[in-house]
Amino acid sequence: MRILVTGGAGLIGSHLCESLLAQGHEVVCLDNYFTGSKRNIFHLLDSKNFEILRHDIINPVDIEVEQIYNLACPASPVFYQFNPVRTIQANVLGVTNMLELAKRTRARILQASTSEVYGDPRVHPQTEDYWGNVNPIGVRACYDEGKRVAETLMMDYGRQDRVDIRIVRIFNTYGPRMAVNDGRVVSNFIVQALKGKDLRINGDGLQTRSFCFVSDLVRGLAGMMNQEDFRGPVNLGNPRELTILDLARKTIQLTESSARIVHGEPAPDDPVRRQPDIALARRKLRWEPAIDIDEGLELTIPYFRQQVTS
Ligand code: UDP
Repeated sequence: MRILVTGGAGLIGSHLCESLLAQGHEVVCLDNYFTGSKRNIFHLLDSKNFEILRHDIINPVDIEVEQIYNLACPASPVFYQFNPVRTIQANVLGVTNMLELAKRTRARILQASTSEVYGDPRVHPQTEDYWGNVNPIGVRACYDEGKRVAETLMMDYGRQDRVDIRIVRIFNTYGPRMAVNDGRVVSNFIVQALKGKDLRINGDGLQTRSFCFVSDLVRGLAGMMNQEDFRGPVNLGNPRELTILDLARKTIQLTESSARIVHGEPAPDDPVRRQPDIALARRKLRWEPAIDIDEGLELTIPYFRQQVTS
């Protein structure tokens, strides 16, 4: 198959491109390199089945494809809040453009949605039937509401134009190829620990997240794309919940760092708890993560060690 991966030079996108190529598919990797990096896909350039396209999905694109993974959108709060209007555009104009492409080519399209559609959740762990608790006028709204509209667009193109859609809600994901300056907690903590700098926690550190290793996530994406009778939304994430304070301690221990933990101001609208209920993914996709947080950090730390010393 010829498969389009938008955001293909990002963390999840680059691992997905690699896995699709290994299965013998033709892959078109589209990216505007706002947060993605050519370094992430450099090693794939020799493959005759791999093509890259510098493009921003807020502009239409016209190519012949059979499947579309729409991952293009900055996902770190630091980056999606840098130009919030652009973030909304990626999710409204960009998703519309990809849906129009899917409509014309009759490609199946999978939208990377997010746990952020649940906002600061009142239901714990989060199940797919929970409608969420999002502040529509806060600093995270460009992403949260953007991704919610993206889901609405997907469903409406599905109902109105019979576009073959799949929606996955991705929870916090990490692994090698995250940018050193990505701004998210796993990369920040590892880089700080390796440099012996203070690990800076926003607030008391008792807020929780559940972290999924990138290879598990990629397996879930492909599983969802290639099953026939279920369009989602489905949660994909690792259900092991830990506090940010625990993550900081674990990172210091695994990097054998002498760095200290310090506390700053809480981040605005920061969700207090987040944990996926993955019963639906288990049932429909026979999917669950295989790599726990300790193993995943052990696999990620050497990558950052190389980045900070080179
Ligand atoms: N966080 C932190 N220090 C950092 C980066 C993030 O304490 O250097 C906190 C952040 O406030 C949030 C959690 O870690 O409570 C996860 O943040 P991240 O930006 O990784 O992802 P998201 O908030 O989108 O889940």
